[in-house]
Amino acid sequence: MFDFDKLTNHFITSGYYYQGSEIYGGISNTWDYGPLGVEIKKNIRDMWWKRFVQQSPTNVGVDAAILMNPKVWEATGHVSTFNDPLIDCKSCKMRYRADELIDAIDKDAHAERLSNEELMNYIHEHHVKCPNCGKEEWTDIRQFNMMFKTHLGVVENATSAVYLRPETAQGMFVNFKNVLRTTRKKLPLGICNVGKAFRNEITPGQLTFRTREFDQMEMEFFCKPGDDLKWFSYWKDKCLTFISELGIKKDHLRYRDHDPKELAFYSAATTDIEYLFPWGWGEIWGIADRTDYDLKRHMEYSGESLEYLDPDTNEKYVPYCIEPSVGLDRLVLMTLCDSYDEEVLEDGETRIVMHLDPCVAPYKVAVLPLSKKLEDKAKEINTILSGYMSCIYDDTGSIGKRYRREDAIGTPYCVTIDFDTLNDNSVTVRDRDTMKQIRLPVDQLAEYLRVKVFF
Ligand code: ATP
Repeated sequence: MFDFDKLTNHFITSGYYYQGSEIYGGISNTWDYGPLGVEIKKNIRDMWWKRFVQQSPTNVGVDAAILMNPKVWEATGHVSTFNDPLIDCKSCKMRYRADELIDAIDKDAHAERLSNEELMNYIHEHHVKCPNCGKEEWTDIRQFNMMFKTHLGVVENATSAVYLRPETAQGMFVNFKNVLRTTRKKLPLGICNVGKAFRNEITPGQLTFRTREFDQMEMEFFCKPGDDLKWFSYWKDKCLTFISELGIKKDHLRYRDHDPKELAFYSAATTDIEYLFPWGWGEIWGIADRTDYDLKRHMEYSGESLEYLDPDTNEKYVPYCIEPSVGLDRLVLMTLCDSYDEEVLEDGETRIVMHLDPCVAPYKVAVLPLSKKLEDKAKEINTILSGYMSCIYDDTGSIGKRYRREDAIGTPYCVTIDFDTLNDNSVTVRDRDTMKQIRLPVDQLAEYLRVKVFF
């Protein structure tokens, strides 16, 4: 496992990420995706959409608004309970999440399940010291609501207050009836949404693992009560299959089933899929059987009935819901970390190579003319290929250096145009992982690559 600082440095210098607002000195833990990052993010998002919407006949998509009626967040409990326990060091003024402070020294304490009083007792009894200054002078724990508040329109008062959504899920619950009506679908029915969510995290960090603004890809899968555990297990498998398709190493993945004490009171089952990051295991995907909790809360707060009338049996009930919820930015970070490698070659040289699955790689192919005199032919080939896939054109430096550059950003194929190309209309295709080369006619190139680089 490579050092995370080294990986971060590689991802930033190659153009996967940039520090947000960098020329102004940045803004804490905000990241922009560079030209490579935006491509891989798009590829993973598209792949999720294909698997969970396009290829799942029970499912459809929506694109719900970020700003919602504030009553939504009262119904979900976010206004009253979406809180983190905050504690400050009186000596150096550093601020921490009390549960994370304890987790860092004892994972088995399951601090996220402790009440504030229990957290405080633990900190005193175990003489937990400030990781920054080593002192043991703590403030009391305070609850901190993680929702970002803003105002609609020009007047700032209590009635104009709205929140930036802390999850995309509610856009699907509130549209449950609309989707049923306009699609004429029956249950089971999955509604999917991809978009930004915002949380005023106290301890953002580890690049895009925890940020205050992030993309979620969520599904609310409505089914008949009693069928829920079957569907829970179905979607749990599908989510792991999806991650495996990204090429992630099996021993870097695990399910973490929530034990009954940890389960939310309304949940019949919850599992996290976790990935072994360089700093330890971290949650990637949360899959929960949320029973009929959300629809019932929205019925109570909106006064609308969200019951389902089964047209085949005439039964009426409030559906149960399975929610697989994944952070797109965490998927991207996981995929990048897992692909990075340093290989010592036969000549003793070390090559950096990102073994990204071709389906998610930012550029599928690099077009490399051996001489500037071959520019016309190379550009012609680049134009053909870019009609099918994202390409990068590079005519600077030795061919060896250009191969290394492409290996280091994960481009799976390099196409080299040489002087023979002008005579036989063939090119050399080099495979990133095996470094093997084959000769191929230009008119077979697009098809040869197309079958390898799309999911
Ligand atoms: P964590 O315990 O890491 O804070 P969570 O349990 O609060 O996560 P959920 O509310 O279940 O997360 O959100 C679903 C998914 O959204 C997570 O599995 C994660 O992939 C992603 N996610 C949540 N918070 C963040 C964040 N601050 N930055 C990036 N991704 C996030």
